[in-house]
Amino acid sequence: MISPEDKANLRAAMPEVLAVRCGIHDLRRSFRCPSPEHDDRDPSAHYYANDNSVHCFGCGRTWDVFSLVGELDGIEGFADQARAVADIVGYHLDDSRPWRKRPKAAKPRPKPLFDPPREAGGKDCGDACSAAWDRLYEPGNEVGRRYLRYRGLDDLDAMEWGLGFTRVPKEIMPEFRVWEPEALGFITIPFWNRDFSEANYCMLRTISRGEVRNKEWRPAGLATPLWNEWMLSASLDTVIVAEGLIDAMALHKITGKDVMALGGVSNAKRLAQVLYRTPPELRPQVVLVAMDEDDEGRKACERIRADLSALRIRNNSMPAYPGGAKDADEYLMATRDSEWRFEVYDSAGLKLYRSRWL
Ligand SMILES: [Zn+2]
Repeated sequence: MISPEDKANLRAAMPEVLAVRCGIHDLRRSFRCPSPEHDDRDPSAHYYANDNSVHCFGCGRTWDVFSLVGELDGIEGFADQARAVADIVGYHLDDSRPWRKRPKAAKPRPKPLFDPPREAGGKDCGDACSAAWDRLYEPGNEVGRRYLRYRGLDDLDAMEWGLGFTRVPKEIMPEFRVWEPEALGFITIPFWNRDFSEANYCMLRTISRGEVRNKEWRPAGLATPLWNEWMLSASLDTVIVAEGLIDAMALHKITGKDVMALGGVSNAKRLAQVLYRTPPELRPQVVLVAMDEDDEGRKACERIRADLSALRIRNNSMPAYPGGAKDADEYLMATRDSEWRFEVYDSAGLKLYRSRWL
């Protein structure tokens, strides 16, 4: 059964579903109708934050997040639609509460109607991600490193995080169901374990000169782990929690500190769940929460900090970025040529880009 709380949480994931599935990020403006049935030439659809709905003035239809995913993926019935929404945003459909112990003699619960998303698995993923890293440097694939440099990330960053390039997502993980006709390729962002011996999950960033259906792709049907999740159980002094993966890389570059990422605010619950399961001596001493500078980010920051306080973990929020940047990556790019710039090195005939701090 889907609890009313799960239902409410999933309902609130509309902005992320619009971002992940429809490439719609600025919800203050109208956008093209998300319905595949409606060949919308103008931005006729609008998002309503009060009830997390989308209404299209062209075809006159209204969706909540469940009917929208039903529309996009041809899924009927609330239960299946809710599960699809949970898959998209990496939400755990279970009724565990991170900081409350379950009563010992709990009543036997009815068997769930459907399984929660599987945890990511598959050892081959690490090998595939290593091969994708090699592919970044193959002739013809320069577009991958150009994409990273556009976001302020150099060849050392690509090496540090084991980023890569692919044109065939299924060769990274068979669970990818990507349809991106205008894509030039994809940056692979693996979720490595602490010693880089294994990656059992990978996120893709779409590189495209034209239309992008989704900026980010995740393997379908798998629960989304946190990026650098191992940092939560490594007895670290301070861990920064960023919202997006690229932001986390930018923040690490700016601060030099240990940074992990939620991969979307809807994954905040997992952060508390993982920490709850982690013995206190292995948890970070201090967690700094660095969400985006927008309403959704600020709300997520408050929720996360409340969870952390409930777990008695010292926490704070990152101060706002100078210059009004919305996120760490925007800030990193804004400081190019004032605080750092790229330098090109020749390494055995290969041009390597590294950022030099000024
Ligand atoms: Zn429409």
